[in-house]
Amino acid sequence: MHSFDPVNFRGQFAFFQHNPGWVYLDNAATMHKPNVVVDAMAMFYQRHNSNVHRGAHTLSQHATRAFEQARDDIAAFINASAREQIIFCSGATAALNQIAFGLMHTVLKAGDRVLITALEHHANIVPWQIHCSKYGVILDIVPLTADYKVDQQAFTELLALKPKVVSFSHISNVLGHIQPVTQMVSQAKAAGALTVIDGAQGIVHDKVDVQSLDPDFYVWSGHKLYGPTGIGVLYGKTAALELLTPLFGGGEMISEVNFSHSLFNILPFRLEAGTPDIAGAIGLAAACNWLQSINNEQMKSYKSMLLKQFFAGLNKIDGLDILSSPVHNAGIVALNVQGEHPADVAELLNQQTVAVRGGQHCAMPFFSLLGLAGAVRFSFAPYNTEADVATSLHALTQAVEILT
Ligand code: PLP
Repeated sequence: MHSFDPVNFRGQFAFFQHNPGWVYLDNAATMHKPNVVVDAMAMFYQRHNSNVHRGAHTLSQHATRAFEQARDDIAAFINASAREQIIFCSGATAALNQIAFGLMHTVLKAGDRVLITALEHHANIVPWQIHCSKYGVILDIVPLTADYKVDQQAFTELLALKPKVVSFSHISNVLGHIQPVTQMVSQAKAAGALTVIDGAQGIVHDKVDVQSLDPDFYVWSGHKLYGPTGIGVLYGKTAALELLTPLFGGGEMISEVNFSHSLFNILPFRLEAGTPDIAGAIGLAAACNWLQSINNEQMKSYKSMLLKQFFAGLNKIDGLDILSSPVHNAGIVALNVQGEHPADVAELLNQQTVAVRGGQHCAMPFFSLLGLAGAVRFSFAPYNTEADVATSLHALTQAVEILT
């Protein structure tokens, strides 16, 4: 494993050579791709392109091997105990939809309860809402504390209502707060619930070991972890995956089709209808393999050093409402310039070539609770630099001056 060298790390992203003037702090929306990922995908298309599983010819067999190797690599990356526990899908949204749909037909019946938190991304709210309302399942929401953390006391109380499924994010995409996931999983399991973790932001920060964390499901999107768009992972324990009714039917997911009925294939294929994103899976595996070769603890400390500098700078700017806490924060800061719309602040930063996101960050219920139009979100990655911190603080100071 290599030690983390920030200069060398950033040098592996062609994006920054092509965009030297930009400070990119919108990493929670999507990350840039290192050259190893782009090269692995180009190599597949240029040399090995064929469809997988179905072709009798040698090229198809090569493509199948590369695709299935990607599954093995990703299983190793999160320490899954079996390769069929890695289901390829288009991202965290698709995975959560599959889980919500799949459990409604098997585990969840009218009058049962599902528990989520008030800090969830829409992807972990709307799929539950759609299916809960259709099947008479009750959706409970864990409220937040005054400092916008999931209220653990309320979580314990709501678990006493015996939800069949508990689904929550590992790290908040709005605030960057890291949830006490280990404790929440073990409490939910003790209450007899199936556990679903939305790891879209979590896997980017922490090294995830699904056997030690032990949720039933852990889902994530490739593009937020240095991989391509269009690919994601639905990890599930084998028994939990067997509970899911497939959301999509079609080729690959069947073993036999008649006009009267169809028999489903075994895992993982049962949940992967149609031609998969072959190059995407190969690109994501390249990202995971590359990350395995870098010291994650050192990468995390570098990011926390940037975050500390950023918070120190924010404290010197008057007129800000900072929503995020620096404690247990994965590198995301949401804030507002008092009395100003976040979109205006984000645009003033954009004009100074600082890329941030202004808005509700797919968390409308959270902002409704706070009575806010949204927030400006600065999200850091290990390829950001101390100069990025200084430039973004300067740009924010300018924005505040212009607006107030
Ligand atoms: N969950 C969280 C916590 C996220 O941050 C996101 C994306 O921002 C999603 C789910 C949805 O991810 P995707 O749009 O890649 O499916």
